[in-house]
Amino acid sequence: MRYSSNFAKTLKNAPADAETTNARLLQQAGFVDQLMAGVYSYLPLGLRVLRKIENIVREEMNTLGANEVLMPILHPKAIWEATGAWNNVDVLFKLQSRTGNEYAIGQSEEEVVTPLVMQRAQSYKQYPLAVYQIHWKYRDELRAKSGIMRGREFFMKDMYSFHTTQEDFERFYQNAKEAYLRIFSRLGLTAKVTEASGGNFSEKISYEFEVLTDAGEDVVYYCDACDFCVEDEIAKQKPGDTCPRCSKDVLHEAKAAEVGNVFDLGKKYGKDFDLSYTDEQGEKQYPIMGCYGIGISRVMGVIVEKYNDEKGMMWPKSVAPFAVHLVSIVGKNVDGTVAATAERLYDDLVVVGVEVLWDDREDVSAGAKFADADLIGIPLRLVVSEKTLAESEVEWKERSASEASRVSLAEIIEKVRSFQL
Ligand code: ATP
Ligand code: MG
Repeated sequence: MRYSSNFAKTLKNAPADAETTNARLLQQAGFVDQLMAGVYSYLPLGLRVLRKIENIVREEMNTLGANEVLMPILHPKAIWEATGAWNNVDVLFKLQSRTGNEYAIGQSEEEVVTPLVMQRAQSYKQYPLAVYQIHWKYRDELRAKSGIMRGREFFMKDMYSFHTTQEDFERFYQNAKEAYLRIFSRLGLTAKVTEASGGNFSEKISYEFEVLTDAGEDVVYYCDACDFCVEDEIAKQKPGDTCPRCSKDVLHEAKAAEVGNVFDLGKKYGKDFDLSYTDEQGEKQYPIMGCYGIGISRVMGVIVEKYNDEKGMMWPKSVAPFAVHLVSIVGKNVDGTVAATAERLYDDLVVVGVEVLWDDREDVSAGAKFADADLIGIPLRLVVSEKTLAESEVEWKERSASEASRVSLAEIIEKVRSFQL
């Protein structure tokens, strides 16, 4: 992409009301725009990041064998009454039509997915099965002050699984947890599997995937010697107590952001809708269900919270909007060789599949372009100027490094390709 064609360029200053690092940097860099508290537009650079996160999540869900679907956001009141959630879920947005019909806006989709699947899975032979979607969710959150980490509208992956036995559910639950850990590690995040309460959904404990960050709203107690981690709300221990799992260290307290969770829903939803299947003996049975969420837009905010410095964002390669930020500094170059070389390099990189953002603006100073590149946070910056061309070279500067180096024009494509891997 030529930066000149991006309508959403960096801003001189972050909006004054941006209270968190992710809100400040994402808005200043032109990745998102706030329409109102908790509701954002994703601009070209931000949308590319969101899509990359989404695709990593999708790949791992497909590896689990789940079917991708897209379910409605606008729901009839009746399905939310069937589960008791119409009156019990305080974050549910409700609206009324001209004719007086009432609707809910999806905050989660058990009410839609249970009838959708159960009407098609009436024999035990069709189990187990899992479906998922990646879609917008709406919640009437009281506080929406953590930038894109807590939206009233936000992007979520939600998966639902259906099983005939508890053992089969446990097997899938374990596979899903492992898939989650792979996802977060591909996203550059260390997520702790944390014991938590089942919340609205379930009497049993659930597992939350928590990333330690002061921008998070949860408090966890964790052990450094093993992977034990528990939500403060359900912990039987206090910070400073010996780890109940390994006894090798004491528990530490930290703030954390929940990036995903998995719940054992038991038979609640089958029973609420009285939707069952027939087992091998011809008896009617309710399925055991699990649900599995990942906050895709929240993850994007958490990545910014973990990867930034005083100059801006520092995207991990797996989710960076582009792999290379190419900067051409035309200055007083009258014969046009700088622009022509930059254009050729841009074309040559794009042809071999490298994603390049080329800052091709000619009326912007080198200093301003470098400041924008640092703010935007693409992992590798390449600079073409009269100075580098005099040596048939390109300047090479990684966002996470303090020093720049030079690479010859003859070797640059190969070097970029191996840097990408
Ligand atoms: P929280 O405790 O943070 O409100 P939750 O327990 O309500 O989260 P779920 O209903 O299980 O979350 O949703 C699944 C995932 O969606 C969460 O793990 C989180 O990553 C994300 N999520 C939940 N609420 C929001 C929100 N308001 N904005 C952005 N992401 C959210
Ligand atoms: Mg919530």
